[in-house]
Parts: sequence; C-alpha cells; structure tokens
Amino acid sequence: MRLILLGAPGSGKGTQAALIVKDFGIPHISTGEMFRQHIRQGTPLGLLVRQYIDEGKLVPDDVVVEMVAERLRDKDCESGFLLDGFPRTVPQAQALGRHVEIDAVLNLNIGKELLLYRISGRRVCKSCGDTSHVEWLQGNYGCPCGGEYVQREDDREETVLKRLDVYEEQTKPLIEFYKKGGKLIEIEANRERDDVHLEIKQALSKLKTK
Ligand code: AMP
Repeated sequence: MRLILLGAPGSGKGTQAALIVKDFGIPHISTGEMFRQHIRQGTPLGLLVRQYIDEGKLVPDDVVVEMVAERLRDKDCESGFLLDGFPRTVPQAQALGRHVEIDAVLNLNIGKELLLYRISGRRVCKSCGDTSHVEWLQGNYGCPCGGEYVQREDDREETVLKRLDVYEEQTKPLIEFYKKGGKLIEIEANRERDDVHLEIKQALSKLKTK
C-alpha cells in the first residue's frame, strides 16, 4: 500500500500515521521528522534546512524531493510506505508522480480552533521524537525512552501562524490536485484519535477489496 497523508499542521497526521503503519506493516516516512533528525545530528542537510524550519517556511522543493527519492529506494519501501508531510507543494507532488504510483491520498479535515489547541499544547521528545500534549503529560515531561518532552521551536505561536498561511497557500492546492487524479479520500478529523483511525481503516479496506 502506497499512501500519502495530507492535512494542516496539527491535524493529527503524525498520530494517525503511527497507527496506519502498524496496520499495514509499512514504513512511516515523515519529512519533518527526517529533517529534525538531521538537525539533532548536526548533518550538512540539518544545517541547510534549520532556518527554513525555525521560520515556519518550506524547505526548497529540490532538497525535499531528493531526500524522499533516496528514502523511497530503500528496500523496506518495496512493499509500500506512508508519506507524512510530503508532498507539500504541487511541484513536489508532480516530482513524486514521476517516481511512483500512489494508491490513495488521505486528507485529514479539521477546524482551525482544534488545530491551534493541538499545536500550542504539542510536546515532542527530544530523544525519540514521540509526540504528546500538555494535557496528557499533566506536568510530567519525562518520556518513557528516558528523553524529555519539549515544545518544538516551530510550534511557537508566531511560527504556527506562518505555517498555517504556508499550508493554505502552498499545500491546500494538493487536495484538488489529488481529487482530479481520483486518489483522494476525505477523512473527518475533528474527532477522537480512535474514531479517526477507524474511518481510515474502513476506507482503506474498501480500497484493498476493489
Ligand atoms: P512537519 O513536522 O511535517 O510539520 O514539518 C516541519 C517543517 O519541516 C515544516 O514546517 C517545513 O519547514 C519542513 N518540511 C517538512 N516537510 C516538508 C516538505 N515536504 N516540503 C518542504 N518543507 C518541509
């Protein structure tokens, strides 16, 4: 199964992606997480992309496309994959289309109020990258892996507003792009995690039996 997960920042892509990859036994390819790992490790790519990310801007298309194309050549992607946070622009989607055929594109639909609540309370483990929320952590910022949950630099209010603008301008047009290609599945994401997951599973099982 070759899948793309679309949705605004804070729509629950990371959370749903973790559940979907378990269901299908496919790798989770999150371009944001790949970049954060490069930044943590201080690689040349990490140094190149850091400023874009901290300012809430998109990393240039050619840089992202090359990183993803290389990742998709790995053996574990042969039986499928889930792309989370990629593509984010129409040129990225066109470039991806030249490399692989996608089975379905899931779009997580969510209202702005819930987005802001989720992003402002989001905390990420500095060591393993796991995501949580201040409401679940209840003052305990220790991760089971031994690391510490902190706020992502780009989750601060000013940057979040910029990221939402970037989403509206550059990423939202992908909904039409994939609708035209007949690949789009709309998911109502203003709900609890497990309800959203169930809807995704049902939609994908229909696809498999077609
Ligand atoms: P995310 O974790 O998906 O919200 O991504 C965090 C940041 O990484 C974004 O705000 C962008 O700066 C950068 N990024 C991740 N994926 C892409 C992409 N496909 N194209 C451009 N920039 C990206």
